[in-house]
Amino acid sequence: MANGYDLAVVGAGIVGIGVALAAVRQGKKVVVIERNAKAVGASIRNFGFITVSGQKAGAHWERAMRARDIWAGIVDEAGIAIIHHGLVMPARRSEAAVVSDAFLKTPMGEKCRLMTKAEAGDLVPSLRLDGVETVLYSPHELRVESSEALPKLAAWLEARHKVDFLWNTAVRSIEGTRIETSHGTVEADAMVVCPGDDFSTLFPDVIAKHSLTICTLQMLRVAPAQPSRFGAAVMSDMSLARYEGFAALPEAEALGRRLDLEEAESRAAGIHLIAVQSADGSLVVGDSHVYGNAQQPFASERFDRLILDEFDRVFDLPGRTVVNRWIGTYASSKERTVLVERPADHIRLVMVTGGTGASTGFALGEQVIEDLYASTSRSWE
Ligand SMILES: Cc1cc2nc3c(=O)[nH]c(=O)nc-3n(C[C@H](O)[C@H](O)[C@H](O)COP(=O)(O)OP(=O)(O)OC[C@H]3O[C@@H](n4cnc5c(N)ncnc54)[C@H](O)[C@@H]3O)c2cc1C
Repeated sequence: MANGYDLAVVGAGIVGIGVALAAVRQGKKVVVIERNAKAVGASIRNFGFITVSGQKAGAHWERAMRARDIWAGIVDEAGIAIIHHGLVMPARRSEAAVVSDAFLKTPMGEKCRLMTKAEAGDLVPSLRLDGVETVLYSPHELRVESSEALPKLAAWLEARHKVDFLWNTAVRSIEGTRIETSHGTVEADAMVVCPGDDFSTLFPDVIAKHSLTICTLQMLRVAPAQPSRFGAAVMSDMSLARYEGFAALPEAEALGRRLDLEEAESRAAGIHLIAVQSADGSLVVGDSHVYGNAQQPFASERFDRLILDEFDRVFDLPGRTVVNRWIGTYASSKERTVLVERPADHIRLVMVTGGTGASTGFALGEQVIEDLYASTSRSWE
């Protein structure tokens, strides 16, 4: 195995990729070590929805803004398509319209606006606009196809930035500057461990202190019967009551109470609606959230039905069919959006603990590299 690395990154999900990019931009020689033949975890199972509006106010929202800019700056070079920009949120309940208005008055709402129903219909022609009170528009968001973007990012880091990738290589332990893997020893001056939702292989005692859970999500790919263009991502009232940047506003309490009465089953299953489009015209639609001490291996037909019920309330796409179903998991914390620990001066353990890694991983990578090499002390929340 090759040695002499400045930095070894464990995990080739979006967080590991973000750390690797930040490190090569600081002139470091980097190796990424990944247990699988390619990224197959949360980072390729998600919506590829790089979200700013709706992220928790403060440090996390700022991370999302920075990460969005990093994505925008590298997609062309890495050969990644941005399939659409922005986010449309039609409010069907007066309580949801109140949340949209309140959001616009926060600093996070600065570049967002209410759009007319006609504008929303032009952008996403399948939207049902009868009964919609207002439409919130956020210009910040990007949509990429994660299952294509992740391999492209790795290939680009390898070709352009001379990052070495060791695939099919599990890291078993780290002692000083020695990393013991399933294929021998790797030496590096520093390490950043980005294990996703693996709580038990590396630094299990450090992770155990944080009482993390595993969140299991159900996702669907829906094919419209006729071609139908999405010029932006779409979320619904359920999302205004779930995404922290909206849901933490005092004005969201009334919406939450109403949804608890009207949509009790969906709310109990952590269901809200995101719909984004792929290059072939199909839609990635989700999702549900179940929290526990392990992945929930069996997808529930009831959850899929509840997600599709909300989909059909928001869109008029008769004859649509479900063409794929899958689950994904991520590490979750009630207290924090990210977890950064220092098991030793030259090691960082990094996890995104709120299901927002596609939106924040690149900026978190920069912050972790700054923390590692400049020993800055920062507040992560
Ligand atoms: C269904 C779903 C939808 C989502 N939608 C969005 C979205 O639209 N927008 C958004 O911002 N976020 C979204 N998220 C959250 C986002 O995908 C995650 O926060 C992010 O992918 C986490 O990245 P990661 O690199 O930490 O984890 P992972 O992608 O799980 O990668 C961790 C990697 O580390 C490897 N690894 C672990 N331990 C070892 C070891 N000892 N040795 C070698 N390799 C190891 C694993 O094999 C894995 O490849 C979604 C998540 C899910 C599940």
